[in-house]
Amino acid sequence: MQPFDEFRGAVRANEPLAPLTWFRLGGPADFLARPGTADELTAMVRRCAEEGLPWHVLAGGSNVLVRDEGVRGLVLHLESPSFSDVRIEGPRVVAGSAVPLTALISQTARAGLAGLETLTGIPGTVGGAVRGNSGGRQGAIGQFVRRATVLEPDGQIRTREQDDLIFSYRRSNLDDCVILSVEMELEPDDPESVVRRMRRIWIVKKENQPYGHQSAGCIFKNPTPEVSAGTLIDQAGLSGKRIGEAEISDRHANYIVADPGATVADVLELIDFSREEVLRKFGYELELQIQIW
Ligand SMILES: Cc1cc2nc3c(=O)[nH]c(=O)nc-3n(C[C@H](O)[C@H](O)[C@H](O)COP(=O)(O)OP(=O)(O)OC[C@H]3O[C@@H](n4cnc5c(N)ncnc54)[C@H](O)[C@@H]3O)c2cc1C
Repeated sequence: MQPFDEFRGAVRANEPLAPLTWFRLGGPADFLARPGTADELTAMVRRCAEEGLPWHVLAGGSNVLVRDEGVRGLVLHLESPSFSDVRIEGPRVVAGSAVPLTALISQTARAGLAGLETLTGIPGTVGGAVRGNSGGRQGAIGQFVRRATVLEPDGQIRTREQDDLIFSYRRSNLDDCVILSVEMELEPDDPESVVRRMRRIWIVKKENQPYGHQSAGCIFKNPTPEVSAGTLIDQAGLSGKRIGEAEISDRHANYIVADPGATVADVLELIDFSREEVLRKFGYELELQIQIW
């Protein structure tokens, strides 16, 4: 008798996670769940509590590196239509956590709402972006969030209001729950101007970042707002450095790209090497931005 037998096809044992991540590397989950509804998701999280099993959320997989050993417990992959609704009422937008961020940016731009276009080019989902307060130099998603509906670790669904939400640089206090949906407030604007800004940001990003490769975006956080991790790695002479089939991107030194045949060990070695060299040469201890599972 397996712990998730009652969920039939929605939970699979020993499922590979690599195809669900942008790095396309790493081992399997003990159990991988694709809950169809919030009720089913709740029952799964409660079952984990009963069985003493850990659970994790994997969304777009664009900020996660899975180790070869894989992940113990249950990995919840939210992709069903129950988590993919978007409602726009005036300047308020309610988006399900599984909505692709790029789709939401286009939809709100067409609706004449400004704000999210500053996030153009960030892959993944609304849930992943809110959890990690994704963004860039022009701002981050947390500044628009007014409330979040979450499944708490105790198996209850609750709404966390703005006063209870904390967003800081690539961090939020929504790291202990499953985000189900978020309500955001945007600024009315002319749709054509918003779309023009989106295009401009996309042109700049495409030139400076290695899209179309296996990666997870920036590996490290910037040590201070003025000091970029990518610049430090580049000035340490590491742009283009290869270990095995993984490489520090020569387009953006805070990216590691995994070429065909790369292993998790190659990527981890490059991460360690970058950290050691930056500490040795400049005295900065780089903190990870990606999640390593
Ligand atoms: C080419 C490229 C460019 C990128 N550019 C940027 C950038 O400019 N700015 C930036 O900030 N990031 C950037 N990233 C990183 C990444 O895209 C973002 O962090 C993104 O928001 C992660 O979303 P995801 O859905 O892929 O989350 P995942 O990678 O699946 O998960 C990330 C974390 O969020 C948690 N999580 C996901 N969904 C939920 C949920 N519903 N409830 C609770 N926790 C959840 C996961 O457990 C995990 O800890 C880039 C990545 C790539 C590959």
